[in-house]
Amino acid sequence: MRRSLVMGNWKMNGTLASAELLVKGIVAGLGENSADIAVCVPYVHVPKISELVKGTALALGAQNVADKPSGAFTGEISAAMLSEFNCKYALVGHSERRSYYGDTNESVAARFCQAQEQNIIPVLCVGETLEQREQDQTFAVIDAQLDAVISLAGIAAFGAAVIAYEPVWAIGTGKTATDEQAQEVHQYIRKYIAAKDQAIADQIQILYGGSAKPDNAKGLFAMPDIDGGLIGGASLDAESFLKIYHSI
Ligand code: PEP
Repeated sequence: MRRSLVMGNWKMNGTLASAELLVKGIVAGLGENSADIAVCVPYVHVPKISELVKGTALALGAQNVADKPSGAFTGEISAAMLSEFNCKYALVGHSERRSYYGDTNESVAARFCQAQEQNIIPVLCVGETLEQREQDQTFAVIDAQLDAVISLAGIAAFGAAVIAYEPVWAIGTGKTATDEQAQEVHQYIRKYIAAKDQAIADQIQILYGGSAKPDNAKGLFAMPDIDGGLIGGASLDAESFLKIYHSI
């Protein structure tokens, strides 16, 4: 059985004080749950949140990681820097990075590898835009996003990675994919990996992201190939995030 995982993505929100309050609220409500839980916080909040989650079941993640190990790359943060603060996860290829900051399939693959070099679990975000879905390109887009990583890192690298399927048209829009729409793509991704390595396909966690909320999480998480969620807006409120976590 795969473990489930619920991961928050705080994006560029909050102050250090509000981040502390939010994390304390989440930790206070963790209770008993067989699923894993993590928050991906803004870089500058990593040191403080790292201290606050120490010894708890809440894991820490970053929202990105550099595609190079070190050097003259102004404004970037390396995997080695994140690992000093016990970051367990790093998102790579979030659609906002791809669409606003020029991340390409190739640079995302390089970020994925850099994370793994430091034993940080990359969370590879994949997904199609509305236009691509309407033109029946969903699976081709996802193939290309996965293939870039497979060709740089090899299929074995997915043995220590998470995939997040995030249809771009559902992110921050309030339009969630239906349980069936999400399951269809999750199943496709798992089969795509299985064609190359069945054991990895059986164990890899594939998260759904895109306007997941307390009232739709249960249905999504009940789908056989959905192993949890990557939660944006609803992770900024401890109560909502915990309700999603406890609906696993
Ligand atoms: C995200 O940004 O990863 C996300 C899923 O956002 P939201 O839940 O707000 O749609």
